[in-house]
Amino acid sequence: MAAVRKPLLRIPYTDVFAAPRIVPRYATTPAAAVASLSAFITAPPPRGLPSSTVVLTGAGLSVASGLADYRGENGTYRVNKTFRPIYFHEFLASHEVRKRYWARSFLGWTTLHKALPNTSHYALRDLGRLGYVRSVITQNVDSFHHVAHPDGPSTVELHGYLRATVCTTCGNEYDRDTFQNELARLNPAWAAFLVDAIASGAFESEDDPTTGGPAPRSRAGLSAIRGIRTNPDGDVDVPGAPYTTFRYPPCEHCLTNPPVTEDGTKLMVEVDQDGAWQLPRQVSTTDSGTKVKCPGVLKPAVIMFGESISQAVKHAAEEAVDSAGRLLVLATSLATYSAWRLAKRAKDRGMPIAIVNMGGVRGEDVFFADLDDQQPGNEGVRVEMPTDVVLPPLVEELHRIAPGGAYSKDGALGAGQVDPALFRDMLS
Ligand SMILES: [Zn+2]
Repeated sequence: MAAVRKPLLRIPYTDVFAAPRIVPRYATTPAAAVASLSAFITAPPPRGLPSSTVVLTGAGLSVASGLADYRGENGTYRVNKTFRPIYFHEFLASHEVRKRYWARSFLGWTTLHKALPNTSHYALRDLGRLGYVRSVITQNVDSFHHVAHPDGPSTVELHGYLRATVCTTCGNEYDRDTFQNELARLNPAWAAFLVDAIASGAFESEDDPTTGGPAPRSRAGLSAIRGIRTNPDGDVDVPGAPYTTFRYPPCEHCLTNPPVTEDGTKLMVEVDQDGAWQLPRQVSTTDSGTKVKCPGVLKPAVIMFGESISQAVKHAAEEAVDSAGRLLVLATSLATYSAWRLAKRAKDRGMPIAIVNMGGVRGEDVFFADLDDQQPGNEGVRVEMPTDVVLPPLVEELHRIAPGGAYSKDGALGAGQVDPALFRDMLS
């Protein structure tokens, strides 16, 4: 059967990518990596391209904030290979699937919500202030860029954000934290379980269950848990939890203003005595006989697997690439197609590329195929280090060589421009 190619978010590659070729060859220490990245970011723009750098980030950037990465240090996939994520079409179609999703999300939210941006996010803010970076494209849904640099560089959140829910009928967005309070009100036993789990430190431990401390017991009567891991998507898995008891609220707008279908059918949102969304007692049908979707269902404002990225976001990301002369890839293996194709776009535009990532990156041999590993970094950089090790000192270095920032008033490169020959002696 011929595959139909659609721009949907697919399950990323779970294979281990080949180990990287470090460029420049000597950039295996933090100091050398910083010097190379400094040469990269301050080099004169390639012919005909703008001088600024666009940054593309992934899950590894948030590891220093206490969030999990999808991959371990050697690039192996951490998420259990038997784990099957919830697809968008399943979420839309099934009340039971939504209960499971929101139950897991309810348990994971506290950990995510109390986590803060780290030095890497603030380094990007500083690179913006110095004039080197105008936009950041992130695959992360944790809103850390949004929090760390609200005034710039501008952020394109390629896969959406967890800080809001969005109605699948009317498109209204709601604050996720307020939604959490509603979930707690509708699910008191789950709320008590969550309080116990947090108090017992279940979310903070990654210890082997056979060697850890005493297991927390919940008042909700759920099974003993330890070492609950919050995924980068903000959910947790508690095997055996009675997801089917979970309740979630509807879209308030659709509840008070029932949506009307094209053929004039009014879709009533039904709720139980406490205001939780309920399956409509009668499944509505249109004149043509097709089943009407459940109205007023909220979903997280993230792109779920099998869901397409909006044209507006896709274009904003492409625009961010096209208005820069260089691409800096941070803490991502580019395993998702939507991110990989942006790097490919940069390559096709002749933009020099720098990658800072632990473990291999999808297609990097192609990105760096024509790169001389003796050049000092102005044509491209590949280093294998955590971003919080190299970005703060990179900002310091750029401050040192150009305290006033990258560009003079007429927009040309200012004092920050570095003669790549400066780094030649580091090759020996
Ligand atoms: Zn709505």
